[in-house]
Amino acid sequence: MNVKEKTIVKGGEFLLTSTEPIDVFTPEDYTEEQNMFRSSIKDFLNKEVEPIKEKFDSKEGTTIAPELLEKMGELGFHGIGVPEKYGGLNCDMKTELAYGEIASDSFAFSQAIGVHTGLGVYPILLYGNEAQKEKYLNDIVTAKTKCSYCLTEPGAGSDANSGKTKAIHSEDKQHFILNGQKMWITNSGFADVFFVFCKIEDDKNLSCLIVHKEWGVKLGAEENKLGIHGSSTRQVFFENVKVPVENLLGERNKGFKIAMNALNAGRIKIAVANTGIGKRAFGLGVQYANQREQFGKSIAEFGAIKHKISVMASRLYALESSWNRAGHQIDEFYDQLIANGMDPLEAKIKSVAEYSMECAITKVYGSETESFIVDEALQIHGGMGFSAESEISVHYRNVRGNRIYEGTNEINRILIPTMLLRKAMKGELPFMEAAMSGFQELQSGALKGAETGVDKYDLPLNFLKNIKKATILVNGLAAQKFQHEIKDEQEVLMSMADMLSILYIYESALLRSIKHKDSNTSSLRADMIEVLMHETAEILLSSTKEVIYACSEENQALPNLKAIQRMYQLPPTNLKEKRRSIANYFINENKYQI
Ligand SMILES: Cc1cc2nc3c(=O)[nH]c(=O)nc-3n(C[C@H](O)[C@H](O)[C@H](O)COP(=O)(O)OP(=O)(O)OC[C@H]3O[C@@H](n4cnc5c(N)ncnc54)[C@H](O)[C@@H]3O)c2cc1C
Repeated sequence: MNVKEKTIVKGGEFLLTSTEPIDVFTPEDYTEEQNMFRSSIKDFLNKEVEPIKEKFDSKEGTTIAPELLEKMGELGFHGIGVPEKYGGLNCDMKTELAYGEIASDSFAFSQAIGVHTGLGVYPILLYGNEAQKEKYLNDIVTAKTKCSYCLTEPGAGSDANSGKTKAIHSEDKQHFILNGQKMWITNSGFADVFFVFCKIEDDKNLSCLIVHKEWGVKLGAEENKLGIHGSSTRQVFFENVKVPVENLLGERNKGFKIAMNALNAGRIKIAVANTGIGKRAFGLGVQYANQREQFGKSIAEFGAIKHKISVMASRLYALESSWNRAGHQIDEFYDQLIANGMDPLEAKIKSVAEYSMECAITKVYGSETESFIVDEALQIHGGMGFSAESEISVHYRNVRGNRIYEGTNEINRILIPTMLLRKAMKGELPFMEAAMSGFQELQSGALKGAETGVDKYDLPLNFLKNIKKATILVNGLAAQKFQHEIKDEQEVLMSMADMLSILYIYESALLRSIKHKDSNTSSLRADMIEVLMHETAEILLSSTKEVIYACSEENQALPNLKAIQRMYQLPPTNLKEKRRSIANYFINENKYQI
């Protein structure tokens, strides 16, 4: 089947259609080339970062990062997603992500890599004209030129379009004169080039300028942060900085689009980084549990500790399933656009934008799962976890920012259902039609719990069908009740986002387990799905309650909730035993490895 004929599940469509396990991409499917990228970056980090990891927990790391970026550049790592023409390796999204997971396991240095190769490369790659690409990209790929991305200002954070940084034309119209202030700018201490979002003259919308440090950019001191001390974060000041007019990136007034499209890709990359750090923190927790003895035995033998290990592992499994799947969806859509004759760079922008909902879902689930894992791994360390000397305490401080940048998790949660409803309004997704048929089933009293079957995956698959129906129904009830005013009902939007997110995450883990049901870890995978299925039911139940109580007439609230919650009901099973068996597997491995 060629790419033109293949039916592709488009952005947000996972809610309305079913996907065959064979069609999802999973970590088990990595090619030799992808595994080679992963081991070569691992070797590099083992040699260059691990021996000096403590330095990345202090501001000293900010002075080491530039040289290390250059060393990585010499080996070609920064050009993984960049076309060969500009010195890159032109790999697809899933290869970039597979590589990124390993690259992220590098303490605060990971911030320098992430911003340089993500928010640094993407604006110019996607929106630069040919002259700009030729001028900058080769040197960005080798890290001879280091980049930072300047969107946030003291008065403009989540409301990024409200920034005050302003550029006006010089008298001879050959330059912009740039004035303003940016803050929280990663890599700013050593960046040579700044992508600066600003308003030109009296424009209402942002534009983006490529600004060189030597043109008079001034920097504040390194911020004193909670964590990632080795990552350079400063305020950046522009006082009458002269920027040649040809350094406008993309179109005037279209900077917000550049900022957002760079962030869409950035969001899924956060989920990838969450997995890299999550696996490391998990390993630290399990290793400590194996080695620490209390009451005459290893603490890994205690049920309370096994419980933690099993939940951490199951969520990690679900997390890595989700972004590998989404990365492949982006690649498939890209291939289809190319087959239909689209320009490759336009196809790159469109394919990531198509899956912006999935990117936001993985970012929110990833950063919260990572926080959970690091917190639990620290708890397993007991008092030693609270020691500033312990590595786990470094991760505990370092990961907190992931829920704040690339769009706070609140902003991303608002975006998730909003994007769904926008697609529905544009007629791109038959969501309201599906919701209407759900309303009828609700009224007819036909909704019932998932049934078991002969195969071990019959129940998880029937549960999946049920929760899709329930999520459509509950989201549909909210959309019908609040219509355009739903933007003012953020509490409801948060719950809608949680339902849509956990559905995508659970489905990704389930499809992966079924795809590999003949592997030698098949019973582990099935156990993790049971744990995730019950956890998913709990999340859906509490979110449904929030939405239904906010949407239904008083006398309808309870009957509606009772009818819908039947769909989340699962037959009792000994979850404790399943969790113990999951934990025993990983305790034996002494790390996260499947
Ligand atoms: C370590 C670090 C590195 C960073 N690196 C960069 C960088 O390289 N470049 C860059 O441009 N920026 C960077 N940032 C900035 C980051 O993107 C912003 O901090 C983030 O967008 C949030 O903006 P804010 O801090 O102004 O918070 P605010 O926008 O003031 O938000 C405060 C709180 O209000 C909530 N909130 C805000 N608006 C809404 C709303 N409409 N509805 C509901 N809740 C809302 C938020 O979710 C949050 O909980 C970095 C930040 C950190 C901490």
